[in-house]
Amino acid sequence: MPKKLDISFLGHTILRQKAIEVLEIKQFDFQNLIDDMIYTVKKVNGLGIAAAQVYENKRVSIIASKPSVRYPNASLMEPIAIINPIILSHSQKTTKEWEGCLGIPGIRGLVPRYTSINVKFTDRTGKEIIKTFTSFVARIFQHEYDHLHGKAFLDRLESNQDIITEIEYQKIVSKL
Ligand SMILES: [Zn+2]
Repeated sequence: MPKKLDISFLGHTILRQKAIEVLEIKQFDFQNLIDDMIYTVKKVNGLGIAAAQVYENKRVSIIASKPSVRYPNASLMEPIAIINPIILSHSQKTTKEWEGCLGIPGIRGLVPRYTSINVKFTDRTGKEIIKTFTSFVARIFQHEYDHLHGKAFLDRLESNQDIITEIEYQKIVSKL
């Protein structure tokens, strides 16, 4: 049975470390970690989670986009494990949208991200995937990719004016 993992919060050094490449994809413990991360991200109503957020310094994240109270505009998809990802190319165009982070509760930021990215990663079966992500899924990918490099969304903000509280964010989304 998968279990809910403890979440790390900003200020803990794990969120500022560069994650280490995963070589043990087929191993039982690593497959268990993926199952636990998928279970955890669902339990906490997240759309993505990187290993550092569950205290594991590995180049793996989960993307699990679905509409929720926290992200009403997200698209619905099956959760996927993104292992050892590389962004091969990206659009010139960026858009700014609200993001939150499980590791930074109570805060939202208006974060600029590429609207489209072409990426390479390994899936949980060990297969290499080359894929283009667009719109909100591309945003989640970039957010989680940053976590693998010790970055948080706050590092991407253009201005402190682009930070709001979750309380005010909920007022904004309730009007959409
Ligand atoms: Zn995050």
